[in-house]
Amino acid sequence: VIRCRAAVAWAPGKPLSVEEVEVAPPKAGEVRIKLVAAGICRTDEHLLQGCFPKAEFPVIPGHEGAGIVESVGEGVTSVTPGDKVIPLCHPQCGECSFCRNPESNFCQKSHFSELQNLLPDKTSRFSCKGKQIHHFLWVSTFAEYTVVPEYAVAKIDAAAPLDKVCVFGCAFSTGYGAAINTAKVKPGSTCAVFGLGGVGLSAVMGCKAAGASRIIAVDINSDKFAKAKELGATDCINPKDLKKPIQEVLTEMTGHGVDYSFEAIGHADTMIAALASCNMSTGVCVMIGVVDSEISIDPTLLLTGRTWKGTMLGGSWKIREGIPKLVSSYLEKKFNSDLLITHTLPFAKVKEGFELLLAGK
Ligand code: NAD
Ligand code: ZN
Repeated sequence: VIRCRAAVAWAPGKPLSVEEVEVAPPKAGEVRIKLVAAGICRTDEHLLQGCFPKAEFPVIPGHEGAGIVESVGEGVTSVTPGDKVIPLCHPQCGECSFCRNPESNFCQKSHFSELQNLLPDKTSRFSCKGKQIHHFLWVSTFAEYTVVPEYAVAKIDAAAPLDKVCVFGCAFSTGYGAAINTAKVKPGSTCAVFGLGGVGLSAVMGCKAAGASRIIAVDINSDKFAKAKELGATDCINPKDLKKPIQEVLTEMTGHGVDYSFEAIGHADTMIAALASCNMSTGVCVMIGVVDSEISIDPTLLLTGRTWKGTMLGGSWKIREGIPKLVSSYLEKKFNSDLLITHTLPFAKVKEGFELLLAGK
């Protein structure tokens, strides 16, 4: 058993508290990882607020990180101690019908079909003050050590800087993959990205890499525009500065609406605005943001031919193989995801990290 620090959320709505926890050794088919760096995603904030209906408290949040394999359980063959890895909040078991379908990335062991508050054998490897602590999406990256199933680990290049590639555990792979894999953005096309957090900025990078000729970035926080432009946005719009709804403005700007739109916020109204912003015939809208309410739409939005899609961690990557490839592309300097990293804080200041997220910084 390893004793180390972890950020524990004891109950919904309560602040995180940095505690000493015990991390039990990996059982068969599991991997214990020494985490080196973690990123903060809006989804962690949704969890802390109690908006993740299936999560259980107390819990160690965090689902974006990178580390080094410390030890492996019986039967683990794909990684060995010392390997650099990214734990995966969306697994690839390799055996289910979705994993075997080359067009699908959606493993049936994902948290939509199987709870991930405990490891697959229905026990936890974390405890604190004599209490069992739950895992989050199997990965719980806000801990110095974590234990995950082997099929939720991607082995990456030994040259990868872990403090930089930790964003591949969620934000970067999600946004970039939404453009490349889910939307399959074509060269010369027009795109609109709603929300310029880590995920939306990564979608901007994906649209640029795919050769889009116009990338319109939309956010109510104009402080996000400088970075969006640096990453490839050609126009930036703040809906608060407009007299008309954003979808009308985007339709006028582009003639008939954009070819591809992406929602990386997580509100019902911006989901509808993003859908209505892509052209009524061949437009494709990708839903990335996590919305915790129902959405009602005018069916004619789809009747004319638009496509409305969702994505989990960037769609059709085949995540255990896809993330290492992305890391290799990063090492070959095919894109600069380092620009997504705005602040670097020591682990004890994890609460400050959330304050920065909530302040839009
Ligand atoms: P973030 O909070 O860093 O960024 C959200 C951005 O949206 C902010 O810049 C904010 O100013 C902007 N915004 C808020 N309201 C707006 C509005 N009405 N109009 C325009 N802009 C607005 O969040 P993030 O970490 O980038 O995550 C974005 C969303 O993606 C979240 O809902 C998160 O849960 C979700 N997510 C989904 C997946 C997936 O696999 N599908 C993965 C990661 C994150
Ligand atoms: Zn995330």
